[in-house]
Amino acid sequence: MSDALSGDIQEVANKSFDCNMCGLCAARCPQGLVPYHIALLCPRLYGHYLAPVSKHLDERIAGLESGEFDDELEKLKKMDEDELHSKYEERDIEPAY
Ligand code: SF4
Repeated sequence: MSDALSGDIQEVANKSFDCNMCGLCAARCPQGLVPYHIALLCPRLYGHYLAPVSKHLDERIAGLESGEFDDELEKLKKMDEDELHSKYEERDIEPAY
């Protein structure tokens, strides 16, 4: 809350990932504040207004809007559950760090 009160939206956004929305802070706040609402708001504000633009995200959105992935999506929609499971198991994933 001190970061929020000082206007450091980025710091609240970073710290908010540890909040599990348990609500204890709101239940105990003598001022009736709801800190976890701030924990929800700040990442959204940061992502919309402050975070650097992601070139890869812009490219992916352009691809989606142009229909670049429509054929692949149609193939997935026609697969049965076993085929989808196999495809999921065979996927390329980034190594865990
Ligand atoms: S809801 Fe409040 S008390 Fe619970 S984890 Fe989030 S900040 Fe902490």
